Amino acid sequence: MPLDAVTTGLYNEIVSRNPAEPEFHQAVSEVLHSIQPALQRQPSLRDASLLQRLCEPERQVMFRIVWVDDNGTTHVNRGFRVGFSSALGPYKGGLRFHRSVNLGVVKFLAFEQIFKNALTGLGIGAGKGGSDFDPSGRSDGEIMRFCQAYMTELHRHIGPQTDIPAGDIGVGSREIGYLFGQYKRITNRFEAGTLTGKDLVIGGSLVRPEATGYGVVYFVEAMLAERGHSLEDKTVVVSGSGNVAQHAIAKLHQMGATVVACSDSSGFLHDPSGVRPDVLHEVKHVRRAKLDAYADLVPAARFVPGRSPWDIPCEIAVPAATQNELGEADAVALVKNGLIAVAEGANMPCTPKAVEVFDEAGIAFAPGKAANAGGVATSALEMQQNACRDRWSFSDTDKTLADTMRSIHNTCLITAANYEKPGDYVTGANISGFLTVASAMNALGLV
Ligand code: GLU
Repeated sequence: MPLDAVTTGLYNEIVSRNPAEPEFHQAVSEVLHSIQPALQRQPSLRDASLLQRLCEPERQVMFRIVWVDDNGTTHVNRGFRVGFSSALGPYKGGLRFHRSVNLGVVKFLAFEQIFKNALTGLGIGAGKGGSDFDPSGRSDGEIMRFCQAYMTELHRHIGPQTDIPAGDIGVGSREIGYLFGQYKRITNRFEAGTLTGKDLVIGGSLVRPEATGYGVVYFVEAMLAERGHSLEDKTVVVSGSGNVAQHAIAKLHQMGATVVACSDSSGFLHDPSGVRPDVLHEVKHVRRAKLDAYADLVPAARFVPGRSPWDIPCEIAVPAATQNELGEADAVALVKNGLIAVAEGANMPCTPKAVEVFDEAGIAFAPGKAANAGGVATSALEMQQNACRDRWSFSDTDKTLADTMRSIHNTCLITAANYEKPGDYVTGANISGFLTVASAMNALGLV
């Protein structure tokens, strides 16, 4: 829906006050467009100051990280942590270590997190952080020293009631362990609830490693059920081959679907007989190799360098690599090849033009803030376990995750229908998240 005069003015101001941050502008624009029906129905929400506060991070920390590599060379990286909104709880969101990270990218991710975290219903605010540090090819010692240097500054800004970082691209349980070790050393406190995504032995939660990928699949299952389908015998293309993609592939396999392709930054893997989770695990975790090594182990598979997997025919697409990886031409190819549903495993992987193509073709499309909320939701469960020094079983935690994903799915659909946009998950997710955060902001007064 087009922006009204108030939001047009606000959006133009955001673009001019935050120059050279296209991903942040894109995320804000999507939300402002999709909440228009709510603003029209409840004019009090059109209050410019509420929207202005919603789009202005509460705090943004940027710092220098100095570390020394194995050859004795000194490196200077840039670190970030943006606390976007603490209206619903302490800032919560991951850390991304990737060369593409800059302030605009962190702001877009933290902004998305506001609505995602609100949708979980678990009382978590929104933040995101990271560094332009590139972990690829770095030794374990280098990773550890980098994490320690990063935490040496970050520790003063975080804590279980203030801001709780977790993983994202380039940050898994190993990095979280090194970050937590340094936090514990500096603060002299074993405050497990300061970071989530920890290894089990230092207070992590079962299911947290699987949660984002499993959660996307539970969401897809609910989307398909809505249309009278199931995952059984469906053909799926997943992009990426990191944490989200690997666990999504494993769960899809378990549920009887065939994942015919996945990818990494150098190309895509096509395995018409179905990507095997055990072989993928062997390649990624035992051999610590690139994805092309899979094709050496499975003769029926081929690795296609330099291309994305979107022209492989499938009924379900799960983009789970990174932002803006799936463009208009990819969407057109997917629709032409018989697509039924798309669920974003990554944050904002589909461009606005691609989403338009899906919309026009009547494809069920779930935005990342709804479909990939299982990771942060399970982080909130980790925080609960840390707070009461408890440990939950795999099956209980997995059941809570599945229930949460179904509840987010239903909230999106009910909200969308309520605003005369039946089946529109983008509108449903954005309006529902917005209404929750807006009422908390109103309750808290002008802060
Ligand atoms: N980085 C993940 C996300 O995009 C997880 C964040 C968390 O667990 O705090 O939601």
